Amino acid sequence: MEPIARLKILSDQMSLEPAEEHCSTGIGRGVLKPVNPDDHFIHPAQMPGGKQILLLKTLLTSACERDCFYCPFRAGRDFRRATFKPEEFANLFVSLARSNAAQGLFLSSGVAGGGVRTQDQLLDTADILRSKLGFRGYIHLKIMPGAEKAQVERAMQLANRVSVNLEAPNTERLARLAPHKIFLEELLRPLRWIDEIRRSSPPNKSWNGRWPSSVTQFVAGGSDESDLELLTTTAWLNKNVNLQRAYFSAFHPIPNTPLENKAAVDPLREHRLYQASFLLRDYGFDLEELPFSGTGNLPLPSDPKLAWAQINLAEKPLEVNKAERRELLRIPGIGPKGADAILQARRVGKLRDISTLRKLGIVADRAAPFVLLDGHRSSYQPVLL
Ligand code: SF4
Repeated sequence: MEPIARLKILSDQMSLEPAEEHCSTGIGRGVLKPVNPDDHFIHPAQMPGGKQILLLKTLLTSACERDCFYCPFRAGRDFRRATFKPEEFANLFVSLARSNAAQGLFLSSGVAGGGVRTQDQLLDTADILRSKLGFRGYIHLKIMPGAEKAQVERAMQLANRVSVNLEAPNTERLARLAPHKIFLEELLRPLRWIDEIRRSSPPNKSWNGRWPSSVTQFVAGGSDESDLELLTTTAWLNKNVNLQRAYFSAFHPIPNTPLENKAAVDPLREHRLYQASFLLRDYGFDLEELPFSGTGNLPLPSDPKLAWAQINLAEKPLEVNKAERRELLRIPGIGPKGADAILQARRVGKLRDISTLRKLGIVADRAAPFVLLDGHRSSYQPVLL
């Protein structure tokens, strides 16, 4: 089969795997459209620093010997599979990169011949790209379940980002999604190794002199877990293994898998999980402060930060001219950049009206009910949705 035809087959189901391009710009998957309907494996992608590139997101092989219940690539499922050898794939990718059709690569794989052998195939591909073909662009490499520590370190030397998919928040939940994956040993341990390597070794052997960031992915709702379980694990990962971010992919059933009759999860849940995870990571919120219901889930109708502010700030608005940065971050409509802009503006003079906040990049309509400006509530009364 022609390489491009194989690439299409391999990339076909990759929308299930959120990566750089998802989640920060809207609700649900597939917010950004492929560049070209025929090249649906190449997407505009937002990089960690904000730059946008064209990202090829694909697998090296869609053959897999594992049988995760939710996965389209699971062993025994009848569909057309494809495989690349490392050299062949590297050459194809570089030809796309040289014609500027793709500028970065997200490379994953089904497990074929064990995790160690599969990881070697991914490493060989990245090594050829870096060492032989001189590719200096973005590479996100997947760490396979069962990979060895030396392989994890090699992946870190070659990639800009590495990821291990936890899929579920703990051992019990993983058993309902992927009964033959071992949560602690195969999935959590590599994330610990990544952090250990970053802390203990200088990155001078990595291709660009920097260690890569690490991320994970959860199948939200796939194991009937609660948001509290997902976010408890996310908070632990942020704190203990320096995880850059968690991705959440709302479960939806794939035909001819054991979970084909399970109901799809509302993509809005995915969006709320992202919002909550950013509150934990960037806004100084503790898990206990998030507005979980008795079932451990976040309310779908409202943004968790807004829900917190309605309980805690509606009657006790914060004075914008005095609030500390950590307090400003609690106000809906004010993010880290907005908080810094307010602190900067306060050096020059008092902030007295809502239009000044707007000029600083604050979403003033959201902030207005929760702030005082020089002792006064804003006369502007927005409708809260
Ligand atoms: S190991 Fe990965 S590719 Fe294979 S069935 Fe499980 S999730 Fe799918």
